[in-house]
Amino acid sequence: MNDRCDARVFADWHSYQCSRKGIHHENGKKYCGTHLPSRVVARQEKKRKKWDKEWDAKKAVWAQEKKDQKWGEIGPKLLKVCKSALDEHERFDEGSSDLAKELRTIIDKAEVI
Ligand SMILES: [Zn+2]
Repeated sequence: MNDRCDARVFADWHSYQCSRKGIHHENGKKYCGTHLPSRVVARQEKKRKKWDKEWDAKKAVWAQEKKDQKWGEIGPKLLKVCKSALDEHERFDEGSSDLAKELRTIIDKAEVI
């Protein structure tokens, strides 16, 4: 009876028994440290969590890029409409209100961007 790890190792189109010593016991079989089923599952879970985290980060970047692109398309139009509305408001209303002054400040800053 050999003391080799009972795991099958897959390579290309065939598989073979792992050549390492089976020093751990699990599910009635012998395993090396690499193929011990509980360690394999733990490694896969760790990788999956890492991939999920990277995927979430990518999705967040793409969502922000999409938002920026939309704002890039809408922003100038919105700015133009707000400026026209404010010009109109100031033509009919002598002495601007605080809200109008604040809006004028924001528009002036936005036009510099
Ligand atoms: Zn092994």
